[in-house]
Amino acid sequence: MAAVIIDGKAVSESIREKLKVRVSALGEKGIVPCLAVILVGDDPASLSYVTAKERALSLAGMESRDYRLPKDTTEAALLSLIDELNNHERVHGILVQLPLPKHIDQQKIICAVVPTKDVDGFHPVSVGSMVLGRSGFLPCTPMGVITLLREYRIAVSGSHTVIVGRSNIVGKPLANLLIRQDANATVTICHTSTKDLSHHTLEADILIAAAGKPSLIRPEMVKEGAAVIDVGVNRVGDPSAKNGYRLCGDVDPAVSQKAGYITPVPGGVGPMTIAMLLQNVVEAAENRYNG
Ligand code: NAP
Repeated sequence: MAAVIIDGKAVSESIREKLKVRVSALGEKGIVPCLAVILVGDDPASLSYVTAKERALSLAGMESRDYRLPKDTTEAALLSLIDELNNHERVHGILVQLPLPKHIDQQKIICAVVPTKDVDGFHPVSVGSMVLGRSGFLPCTPMGVITLLREYRIAVSGSHTVIVGRSNIVGKPLANLLIRQDANATVTICHTSTKDLSHHTLEADILIAAAGKPSLIRPEMVKEGAAVIDVGVNRVGDPSAKNGYRLCGDVDPAVSQKAGYITPVPGGVGPMTIAMLLQNVVEAAENRYNG
């Protein structure tokens, strides 16, 4: 039987609708949640991500301040802009679109954003708070995945969840969130040195692919009825497409004939990442108001 398609677009729209109520409550106090969005360089994928984020902010009645910087921007100039935004009264969140050009130390930039405005949840203080289960901003893509699992009432507690990918922005934080006592999954993390990937993926009640490799996960690697979450967003050449490429995930579409649940790409995890970002910006603005 074909899998239930997890509609991330619909879930994200409902979250965004609910956020409008909080945005309007802030508006009554004279506060407009505001995110500073910094993009260095002209990478087309990064540009399309920041444009989508800015559009979503505007639709939700929030403000975005856009900083488009040339690719030869120095690390010092970027640090100075972040310092200015850290101290800016009307800016509640700061997003530096990654990856940054190679001459800029990414970790140094992430550490420069004050944790109270770190709506991406990448600062070491935010990461530490997440691991310890203390308050702080949670990273958007992992929270988007967890929210989808909750919305579709997929049994996470007691599940064996296998994550393919161990990046700092997806795999590692997701594993941490899933082993917390409010999720209670048993988690296996796979990476490029994992021997016999299929052996692990076949054990998964919930399989999360976050490798950035088109069609890495094929039907024979998936347990019948498993919930499959595809985080991957890959551009593959397609001469029939208007812009010469199409987007695909890390999961072969044929997996939908074997899985119990599956997220599409696009329309699965991607819109959830944006919804979680908006949620964090609203929370940052509320935190500021509440002192
Ligand atoms: P990343 O930093 O490149 O990390 C990829 C991870 O996958 C690494 O840990 C790598 O292992 C592992 N991996 C790669 N090929 C593998 C293979 N053949 N077998 C097992 N493990 C493998 O990527 P990322 O930033 O986490 O992003 C992953 C994907 O998610 C990308 O397609 C990205 O575009 C997408 N993404 C989507 C969203 C969204 O909102 N939907 C947000 C963020 C990222 P090693 O550590 O051993 O190299």
